[in-house]
Amino acid sequence: MKNLLKEIDEVLLMGPGPSCVPKEVYNALSCKTLGHLDPYFIQIMDEIKKLLQKIMKTNNRLTIPISGTGSAGMETCFVNLIERGDPVLILVNGCFGLRMQDMAARLGARVDTLEFDWGKPVELGKVEEKLKKNSYKIAAVVHAETSTGVRNPVEEIGKMLKGKDTIYLVDTVTSLGGIEVAVDAWGIDALYSGTQKCLSCPPGLSPVCFSEKALDVIINRKSKVPNWYLDMSMIIKYWEGKKRVYHHTAPINMLYALYQALLLVIEEEVKKVFQRHMENHKKLVEELQSLGIKMMVEPDFRLPMLNAVYVPEGANDAAIRSRLLIEHKIEIGAGLGPLAGKIWRIGLMGHTAREENVNRLVKALKAVLKR
Ligand SMILES: *Cc1c(COP(=O)(O)O)cnc(C)c1O
Repeated sequence: MKNLLKEIDEVLLMGPGPSCVPKEVYNALSCKTLGHLDPYFIQIMDEIKKLLQKIMKTNNRLTIPISGTGSAGMETCFVNLIERGDPVLILVNGCFGLRMQDMAARLGARVDTLEFDWGKPVELGKVEEKLKKNSYKIAAVVHAETSTGVRNPVEEIGKMLKGKDTIYLVDTVTSLGGIEVAVDAWGIDALYSGTQKCLSCPPGLSPVCFSEKALDVIINRKSKVPNWYLDMSMIIKYWEGKKRVYHHTAPINMLYALYQALLLVIEEEVKKVFQRHMENHKKLVEELQSLGIKMMVEPDFRLPMLNAVYVPEGANDAAIRSRLLIEHKIEIGAGLGPLAGKIWRIGLMGHTAREENVNRLVKALKAVLKR
């Protein structure tokens, strides 16, 4: 039998995730599997919590990775915080805001949305108006909208919600590890992220974080969490306390990988990691502009790790992406929803955000666009 794994080429991942994985993280994956209650493994779990708290700038004790990708983290937040009939506000300006709306509606929440153009940030004035007229149990927003390359004003929305009972829920799947996320200072009550974007770890885990206020809501639920696998009240008993209670078998080796990926960020220094993202983003923008390729998002709201650019006029979107992949071994992302065929999404996430990668992409783009 042939083994397909032997035929995998190394591809430079410059799309919307997954991002390139450093060799230290691949090495971590191949460490020996321990039991999920092994005392040594429990030490690693405790270290992961501390590292996540540091990167998220929080003292929240309930800061742990959920088994599953970013969407499992999204579901964890909604399924634990929502009970039928709860009023929920979702700010939507891209694909992932829509996913939040879908999840909340499936749980029987009374979902109210504020929608904004794809490619534009959430407008604070409209949010303020909405919050004046209504009260919500949860208000949710995506920090880094990966479908458009827009950074939403999470800190400013946090200020509007200060002193209210509303739980402030933020998607940081693409922002964590690439730009600042300050859970405590920004008043975030519930957050989820992912491993395969700026943390440069393979997909498979979703760090989440809950404030005491959010934890209170979870503990005082009238109904059981409808989803067994993601029920925080049970998961906590495995991740906290002296006596760890089995809930589901932790994805041991994935957790080694996350541990190593977080260590790499801390060793490089969080501030310097953000700087590296920003510098390479600026270089990329400059190079693309010299090729006549235009950015979609206004400079103030651009994400350094996800660059949305207009497909040049006359260029064949799919053919160019396919040639980049086949001839140059570089993956970039296509547009989603209303932006399909109109934009490319060029990722500079985590380990991918390096000058040599920017140079390699620009050179390849030049070659491909010339023909
Ligand atoms: C990638 C992404 C998700 C979903 O994560 P998966 O790992 O694909 O499940 C959610 N939100 C945002 C902003 C993302 O970029």
